[in-house]
Amino acid sequence: MARTRKRPRLKTAAKRAKRIKVTPKKAAQAAEEILFRVEGKMSTFGGPHDLGMSADEDLALFTKLDLKDPKYAYLFLPAPPPGTSGVGRRLNPDQYYFACRWNYADTPKEFLRRALARVENPQNGRAVDARPVDWGPHPSTGRVADLSPGLAAALGLDTDDVVKITISARRAIPVKPTLSVKHAGHGSSNPHAKPVIKAFVESPNHSSRNGAKIDKVVLHCTEAPLKSTLDHFQTAGGENPVSAHYVIDRNGDIYQTVRDSDAAWHCKGANRSTVGIEYVGAEIDSVTAQQAAASAALIRWLLEQYDIPRTNVFGHDFTPGYSRSGGTSCPDKLFGLAHSQATVAAWVQANV
Ligand SMILES: [Zn+2]
Repeated sequence: MARTRKRPRLKTAAKRAKRIKVTPKKAAQAAEEILFRVEGKMSTFGGPHDLGMSADEDLALFTKLDLKDPKYAYLFLPAPPPGTSGVGRRLNPDQYYFACRWNYADTPKEFLRRALARVENPQNGRAVDARPVDWGPHPSTGRVADLSPGLAAALGLDTDDVVKITISARRAIPVKPTLSVKHAGHGSSNPHAKPVIKAFVESPNHSSRNGAKIDKVVLHCTEAPLKSTLDHFQTAGGENPVSAHYVIDRNGDIYQTVRDSDAAWHCKGANRSTVGIEYVGAEIDSVTAQQAAASAALIRWLLEQYDIPRTNVFGHDFTPGYSRSGGTSCPDKLFGLAHSQATVAAWVQANV
């Protein structure tokens, strides 16, 4: 598998990238602008056991500096495998990453570092989000992509199976979701039924609200795929133990990791009085139609359940009481291009 992976030097990358099937800036459908798409055979790469990578080999898109960035640290093992110094062998093979032969003129490195791709197994229809991390495989392999062992396993792919990879710039899609069933017998005066929670994956990172009333909903962008987000929330201690009450996958599945009655650790300075909702997405993504519908139903339920004014739904950076110095880019481009509470409020107005 990984043994046959021979990576070219980067200076040849631009020349060889011409051979891959890329359809830049072609709109596949009204709501989705496809920036990169490829379909063909795959193999696996990266991590301590990939002896096809040399001990000091780095990645085309990530360097040692990224090991300290909480956005990207999850891609890597906590310590370098013995005898290695490069970040290629330090990749965490369980996380979802991949390599393709990029044409950096169409998809620049900085864009790729912030992108989440949809990786699919066309045979069984399974699909998950993953991050581009490297350039490869060599064209002589006849393959179009190398996936992390964990990504291949999640999709049920073996070496030389066909994989389909898409990166799109999703535009905001205003959605007026169907109204929830009224009086659904949920045992409270809330006219809205709580949306279905796909799984409760409890995070150790929570604390008492100390009697504070819930009066705000805070919206976040994960800047990471679902799995690594849930994994990160499971991690206690460390430099940056975090959580949120809800995580909404790009297909609209809702996961809960902290009970509403407890404070999650998502918005420094405002945790005691807020409910935090994370949307799975990269910094360049908009919410998907499915996320919009699922989150609107959840937000409607929360507003009703805790008697929160509709004007008290905030983007992370704009939450009253939020006190991290320097602020945050969150919620990124989820609700529109402008980084402002007005953008978030307009989305709430149109959708919730
Ligand atoms: Zn945030």
